[in-house]
Amino acid sequence: MHWLAELDHRYVWHPFTQMRDWVKREPIVIVEGQGAVLRDVRGREYLDANSSIWTNLHGHNHPRLNAAVRAQLKKVAHSSALGLANEPASLLAERLVKMANPFRQTRTVAGSAKSPARADHLNKVFFSDDGSTAMEVALKLAYEFARRSGRSKKPKFLSLENAYHGDTVGAVALGHIELFHQRYRNLVFKTDKVMAPYCYRCRFNRARPERTDAREYRKCQWECLDVLEEKFSSRRRKGNPYAAFVFEPLIQGAAGMIAQPAGWLKQAAGIAREHGALLLADEVMTAFGRTGVLTRTDEGPRQRAKAGARAGDEQSLLACQCENVHADFVALAKGLTGGYLPMAATLTTEKVFDTFLGRYEEFKTFFHGHSYTGNQLGAAAALANLEMLESLSCVKTRRMLQASMAGELNRLWGQPRVGDIRQVGLCAGVELVKNWRTREPFPLRERAGMRVCEAMARRGVLTRPIGNVVVLMPPYCTSKSQLERMVATLSESVAEVL
Ligand SMILES: *Cc1c(COP(=O)(O)O)cnc(C)c1O
Repeated sequence: MHWLAELDHRYVWHPFTQMRDWVKREPIVIVEGQGAVLRDVRGREYLDANSSIWTNLHGHNHPRLNAAVRAQLKKVAHSSALGLANEPASLLAERLVKMANPFRQTRTVAGSAKSPARADHLNKVFFSDDGSTAMEVALKLAYEFARRSGRSKKPKFLSLENAYHGDTVGAVALGHIELFHQRYRNLVFKTDKVMAPYCYRCRFNRARPERTDAREYRKCQWECLDVLEEKFSSRRRKGNPYAAFVFEPLIQGAAGMIAQPAGWLKQAAGIAREHGALLLADEVMTAFGRTGVLTRTDEGPRQRAKAGARAGDEQSLLACQCENVHADFVALAKGLTGGYLPMAATLTTEKVFDTFLGRYEEFKTFFHGHSYTGNQLGAAAALANLEMLESLSCVKTRRMLQASMAGELNRLWGQPRVGDIRQVGLCAGVELVKNWRTREPFPLRERAGMRVCEAMARRGVLTRPIGNVVVLMPPYCTSKSQLERMVATLSESVAEVL
């Protein structure tokens, strides 16, 4: 065994890993990366088919990101955001606000914009370190806002079945994946859950399985939305309406890449709004183009032209924008720095921000922060990342990759062990089943997904399963032939293992 692997075995405790199994085999020790390829200590090469757990966007060792971090390193690596501002964090905050309000006029520094910032625009940015902390910030802000605005003395939150919002205690409270969360039941505060649209296994879907994405052939009456409506109504009848509705827009990642049917998000957000709840969008996985280059449907080109949009702007860097949903909180992390550095941001509105203003001695201050809040290296990487994402060539590349991904994934229907394939933009989940005609799942203890991913790794393709769902989330720089290899490897591995 390589000495680095031995050190790992001796000292490192890995996340979400049964360490007794871990030490039974030599781990892959990564030493280099280039584009979509990772290289290990023995010189073996692998395709990074899940973008290093959903973080990487433009590939590894990217010259522009490298240059941005290097240039910032020559100035300063980090200074505290407690009592100090800094250059890249200021620039990044402005950029994120622009990204979050693409067709709305944002206030310029000189105050020259005609329409001043509206209270419900996402105009304020709170930096932190990772997806969990971004959600903690949103949660605490939403809680306080609900109390201060008089909506509720004991604010209640509603989130989706199988939701995953991170592993810190507040984020765990919002999550509903039994396996991760039940142990900590007595440690966390209670939140409510409501059914999420999971068309493939939805009790309201009366369609027999077909060889296509279940969202396409589902037969239902949107009963899931009736259930949501009833949830909001019953809480209201109890005299304490929900303070906030928390959701992953378009696709629930850790739940098993569960994609929502088109229109669900818009309607669900509408129901929450009607009941006066704040919308808390967890875009930790979905932001920065992951959910695809989609132009918005309910705003014509003329309106976009009027708002000063250019061709390259016709993309949604937030999943919420694909259905024209305007959240009160947006949590960003994973792809923020292009997969380079741990950095996160919680965006919120002027309205929320204002409730934390007051005389010092009123102590309305938001008492929350992290040592590395607003870190310069991370912010510099994030700025370079956003510049690249906004370039027309990147938009074109992503559009093409998305189309070839759909084409390649289509071939997998030939596999009888494939039950559902859910692609949203540049992420996809392939759900493996024992019998596609009955949707019978593999029992979790058979480790079907894990075994398939192990077989893929042996063939030089890295990804991680979620239960019986194999995730494909290629970096945006993935070439057509690399993508073909990822899917072909998945197909071969399913055939071999199952
Ligand atoms: C990964 C993830 C988180 C947690 O982010 P960390 O950076 O791992 O703390 C939260 N929400 C969603 C939707 C995620 O995918």
